[in-house]
Amino acid sequence: MTMLLELDHVTKRYPVGGLFSRQSITAVSDVSFALDAGRPEIFAIVGESGSGKSTMAKMVLGNEVPDGGRLVFDGVDIATIRGRDAREAFMAKVQPVFQNPFEAFNPLTPVDAYLFATAHRFCGANDQASKEGLTDRALQRVGLSLAEIKGRFSHELSGGQLQRVAVARALIPAPKLIVADEPVSMVDASLRMSIVNLFRALRDELKVSIIYITHDLATAYYISDRVIIMRSGEVVESGDARAVLDNPRNAYSIALKNAVLPPDPKAAAAAIRDRRILNRADAGAA
Ligand code: ADP
Ligand code: MG
Repeated sequence: MTMLLELDHVTKRYPVGGLFSRQSITAVSDVSFALDAGRPEIFAIVGESGSGKSTMAKMVLGNEVPDGGRLVFDGVDIATIRGRDAREAFMAKVQPVFQNPFEAFNPLTPVDAYLFATAHRFCGANDQASKEGLTDRALQRVGLSLAEIKGRFSHELSGGQLQRVAVARALIPAPKLIVADEPVSMVDASLRMSIVNLFRALRDELKVSIIYITHDLATAYYISDRVIIMRSGEVVESGDARAVLDNPRNAYSIALKNAVLPPDPKAAAAAIRDRRILNRADAGAA
């Protein structure tokens, strides 16, 4: 079995209390899991605010280095990737989608410029025709087209549309892994399911693996294959998403579940659609 990504006892601490303080907080503590290269899946990292989810995302993306343990992508320790070419090759394979698409796109730059730049940077597209071709193909994948967004600015699009554009941008380099950090929490509740379903389609049709980070058990239950539940940097429960979320053993997971989750997936999906669940989930995580 070849591994796409392997986390081996990963720990990350941040200093607190100023320059001369020796104190630190442990944002991520001894986390291990692996994604199989031959079996694309949606792997959910679930936890309340401050549980270490974004720190995990940053380490997988190579933007933070662990203090203990290793993250190995495609057989290479991410912390050892040096030099511009190796770094670019890694970034092409592991692409981010962030929580707030309005922060990801500068309001003064048309959104298509970001996609053209990505096509240039990672796919070597030099002329406008090939940039537009790659961009349009990625946009079609997410249910949009270049014609719809050409020359438009972020404020002219809805949060849901803009998040689709962000996903399209991430798809341009044909990544093997997408790290989506709370990708639907800024999206209008009525549009969340369509974005969440889009991730499923990417897994099934493009065979891309997705690390789906959320504080919301309902969408995690709905789309994930496997899940880890984090609290204060530690994994308190992990396994097959249905098994864990149907029968949580840890008190924290049970509390999370009781707060947000109706028992059957169809009911969960319906509840997400008509906002009941996510409003409660948001309140619970705040
Ligand atoms: P989550 O994404 O689950 O809300 P984070 O990974 O952002 O959690 O944060 C986990 C913990 O690490 C929190 O206590 C947070 O305050 C702390 N933390 C995150 N980033 C930094 C940083 N750059 N410096 C200091 N502390 C940080
Ligand atoms: Mg976060």
